[in-house]
Amino acid sequence: MQLISDLKYLLFPTRCFGCRALGYSICSICRKLWNPHLYLSSIVNLAVYSAIPYSPIAKNILLAAKEQGIKSADELVRSAMRTSLQGVFQIYPHCALVPIPSGAASNRRRGRDFINEMAFSVAKDMGVAVLPLLEQQRVVRDQSKLNISNRRENLAMALSIKPQFRGNYSSESVVILDDLVTTGATINEANRALTKAGFKVQAAATACVALLRRE
Ligand SMILES: [Zn+2]
Repeated sequence: MQLISDLKYLLFPTRCFGCRALGYSICSICRKLWNPHLYLSSIVNLAVYSAIPYSPIAKNILLAAKEQGIKSADELVRSAMRTSLQGVFQIYPHCALVPIPSGAASNRRRGRDFINEMAFSVAKDMGVAVLPLLEQQRVVRDQSKLNISNRRENLAMALSIKPQFRGNYSSESVVILDDLVTTGATINEANRALTKAGFKVQAAATACVALLRRE
């Protein structure tokens, strides 16, 4: 059997999805770098709990989960989200998770709504509820090539409460969940839409945080 697996390796070499090194699907160096610890930051007055400093390797791991659906990458993202949420729940124990929605085109490409799926999975482990309250009310451009003020503009009024949730659950305590916080524009927009609809946004939680981000 060793021969067959060696042959398979020669024909279909595996690369680490963090650093692209040949070998395992996640190498020991990248695995060590993905070491969830609590990082606290803020967006305006909202506390943001994160677990992994953003880096080129963290970026590749997020992409491996999000865009390629690699199961072990999904599990790394979930473990980071759990660490962040444990930090939130120590202070706000009765919060439901509100995932940041992705655009319809991204969901079609990925074959799933990534943050929504992560939210349901970690919520099950942690015994909390998920309220998928938000939807994009218009098409949003890809954020990655925009600067901070363009991101704010791009996201202004971009999110709204889904019609079926309007007028329900208001005054519920919630925590916003996303994979990454960079400028904070997305979380800020989610906070605006939820607060306007009467929800009590206690905090936000993300897997990764760009530590040198500027408000
Ligand atoms: Zn690696």
